Amino acid sequence: MVYQRPWTHETDVTIRLRRCRNPLPNSRSLWLKTYRPLRVEPLELEVAQPLPDVCARHGRPAVSRSHVQACFYDTDLHPRFHHSAFAQDLVKTLISMRRVGLNPVSTILVGEWPVCDRCVRTARRYRWLARSLLLLMAANLVAVVIVSVANIDSLLPPLVLALFPGSLLGLVVVVHLFNKSAQRVTYRPIYDERFAFVQAHARFRAAIEQDARYRPPLGQEPDTP
Ligand SMILES: [Zn+2]
Repeated sequence: MVYQRPWTHETDVTIRLRRCRNPLPNSRSLWLKTYRPLRVEPLELEVAQPLPDVCARHGRPAVSRSHVQACFYDTDLHPRFHHSAFAQDLVKTLISMRRVGLNPVSTILVGEWPVCDRCVRTARRYRWLARSLLLLMAANLVAVVIVSVANIDSLLPPLVLALFPGSLLGLVVVVHLFNKSAQRVTYRPIYDERFAFVQAHARFRAAIEQDARYRPPLGQEPDTP
C-alpha cells in the first residue's frame, strides 16, 4: 500500500509506535527550552512491533540490534519534523537581527533496529575518524603550548589558526561524524503518533509484508491522504 505524503516516499514502510511507558533515561537534556515555544505536545515514543532480522538500510541479514534514538523538531514545515533545520534557523536569526530561536525538539523516538555488517563497519569508520580528529586537535593544542613556551614565533601563527577557528570547525565535524556513526534509520516526519514512516530497502519491505506480526492490524493502518 502506498502512503504518498509530503516528505514520504512510496517505498517507505510504516512501523507501529506507542508512547513510552516510562520517561526515557538521559532525555532531559534534549527537552531544552528554546525561544520558540513548543506548539504540540512533547512525546516520547518507542517502536511497538517486532522488526525482521534484515537491515532496513541495506537489505542485508542483520548481525545485531542497535539502540537508535531519533529527535523530531517543531519546525515551520511540520510540528514533528525529522530535521532540525538548524542552518535555516541560524540564517533567519542573522538576517532578522533578532532572536528567531532554534526549532525545539517535539518528539523523541527510540527503537532497537536490526543492523548488518556494513552498518557496523561504517559506524566503526565514522567513530574512528571522529576520534582521530579529536586527537589531532588535542595534539595541536599541546603544540601551541610548547611553541609558546619555547618562543618559536614563526611556528605560532599557523598553529593558532589551526586552533581557532580550525578546532571550532573541527568540533562541528566531530559532532557530525559521531551523529553519522549512530544514525542507521532514516525516518520521515511523524504524521500520526501511532506510526513512523521509514525509508526501507526492498528486502526489508518484503520481510515486513510477508509476516503478519510486522503489519498493523486491520483497521489500524495509517490514514491515506
Ligand atoms: Zn546495514
